[in-house]
Amino acid sequence: MRSTQKILRIVFSASFLLASFTFVSAQSNRSPVAPTPEQFQSTLGNAYEKFKGDTGGKNADYIPYLAHVDSKLFGIAVVTTDGKLYKVGDVEYAFSIQSISKVFTLALAMEELGPDEVLAKIGGEPTGRPFNSIPAVVDMPSHAGNPYVNAGAIATTSLISGADPVAKWAKILAFYSEASGSKLSLIDEVYKSEAATNTGNKAISMLLAKYDRIYANPFESVDVYTKQCSVGVTADQLAVMGATLANNGKNPMTGKQVVKQDNVPHILAEMMMAGLYDGSGQWAWTVGIPAKSGVGGSILAVVPGKGAIAVFAPPLDEAGNSVKAQKVIGYVADKLGINLFAASSVGLK
Ligand code: GLN
Repeated sequence: MRSTQKILRIVFSASFLLASFTFVSAQSNRSPVAPTPEQFQSTLGNAYEKFKGDTGGKNADYIPYLAHVDSKLFGIAVVTTDGKLYKVGDVEYAFSIQSISKVFTLALAMEELGPDEVLAKIGGEPTGRPFNSIPAVVDMPSHAGNPYVNAGAIATTSLISGADPVAKWAKILAFYSEASGSKLSLIDEVYKSEAATNTGNKAISMLLAKYDRIYANPFESVDVYTKQCSVGVTADQLAVMGATLANNGKNPMTGKQVVKQDNVPHILAEMMMAGLYDGSGQWAWTVGIPAKSGVGGSILAVVPGKGAIAVFAPPLDEAGNSVKAQKVIGYVADKLGINLFAASSVGLK
């Protein structure tokens, strides 16, 4: 009898040890102040229900293709630094990444040239003007403005090394693919639609040339930039790209170090300053998380050490930011207490 009890006790302690080990290893990558999986899933579900009927805003139409995207599409995805994916709604639909591409081309430029040279060549100040402003190119002391307005983004693309535009484009696409952990590709119809109507961006590239602030052939650079904006991503692929930044530059799904760890704070700081163009001040005031929007209707927000949220819903406000995506991320940030400027976001109650 006593020996049976002893055996039972040994078996019990062994399984307890095993269970705690499994628990520890599964949790090891988890930020100590990250919300639980249940909190994530229920908060996303609530946000989806709360905002799905919202009819504010209007699809971008200066790129003809975007005017015809179904404005009711709505998807939300979260990827955490411990590699968990939470999603709701239209997360399988591939939309064009548009200006969110600017974040990852900036990352690639810094891989090649380092942050100091990129900052010196592009600038980092918010323009207080629309993303495609031509007067800002004249007025801003750096002319290019910052890497997240069209002028600065075209100049950043022009910095990417390569024997010719085909090689540069291949390098950019491969880099985005590594950040997303998927093989991404161009949405050809978006590219054609934008390439046929991008006279404003071509004008910006010529003005940059006037000020010596573009670093390769201007029209070829605009063409590579137009391709990068036309890359198709789903909300969950985009969330993985953001989670790569949240995870010190290491893709949490593939384990590959894609972005140099030291460059990540620069990328996120610029998102905070200029990620939503002239909506960035209000965004910082109300939500307090670095984010970047694209006129395709998506916003990607990154919470360092915890994860990223990508929301896709095409109708935009006046500044070119998805109306529903802003509401969803604001709601989720509030419910999960992840405003970076609140001490509670790092566990101080
Ligand atoms: N491709 C778009 C453009 O150059 C990107 C703008 C955006 O998403 N804000 O206008």
